[in-house]
Amino acid sequence: MTEETPETEEQLAPYKIEEARSSRSRCRTCRRKIDKGKLRLGVLLEGPYGTGYLWHHLTCAAKRRADDVEAAYEERAWEPDLEVPPIEELRKLREKAEEAKKNKIDPPYAERAPSDRSKCKHCDEKIEKGAYRVVLLREIRFGNQVRGMPINVHPRCVAAELRAEDCLVELEGFEEAVRTNTPNFGDEDAVELFAQIGELE
Ligand SMILES: [Zn+2]
Ligand SMILES: [Zn+2]
Repeated sequence: MTEETPETEEQLAPYKIEEARSSRSRCRTCRRKIDKGKLRLGVLLEGPYGTGYLWHHLTCAAKRRADDVEAAYEERAWEPDLEVPPIEELRKLREKAEEAKKNKIDPPYAERAPSDRSKCKHCDEKIEKGAYRVVLLREIRFGNQVRGMPINVHPRCVAAELRAEDCLVELEGFEEAVRTNTPNFGDEDAVELFAQIGELE
C-alpha cells in the first residue's frame, strides 16, 4: 500500500504527520505528487492486502479532511522534534477553501471580457475587451472520465454552441440559468446580452 513502511503493523498509529521521506507518494486529495520534505498526513487504512498509510498533503487534508486533521493533532501524531503549523492556521485554510467554494459560480454565466486576449471557442475569433462573453461547459474525455471544461463564447455564437453535441449546458432554461448565475449583471446588461444572443429556440 505504501512504499515506506519500516514499522511492523502493531506500531502503526491511526494517523501520522511527517515530512515526506521521498517524492514517490501521491496525495489522495489532490492526486499530485508529494515532494520530499513536504508535510504529509497519513491516514491508516486496513485493507484486505495489508495495512498502511494513505497520504495527503497536510494542507490538502486541512481543506478537505478536517476531522482527520483534528484527530491527528489531538493525538499529536508526529515525532516530537517535527515542526508542524498551529492547528488554527489549518482551520483558517479550511475556512478559506469553503468560502472560495461558496463564491464560485458555475457556468452558464456571462461577463465582460477583461482583456482582448480571449477567443470564442465556437468560432475561434477574438472576443473584444469589454464585450460580453458567455461561459458554457464543453464535455471533454480522459479515457472513461468525463469532465466539463468552461469555455468562452460570443453571445452571437451561443445558440449554435448550445446545439453542439459536446455542450453540457442545456438549451432549456438557459436564460434563467444565466440570470441566476450572473447576479452582478444589471437589467440593462441582461437586456443587451440577450439581444446579442438572439433567438435560441
Ligand atoms: Zn494534495
Ligand atoms: Zn464566436
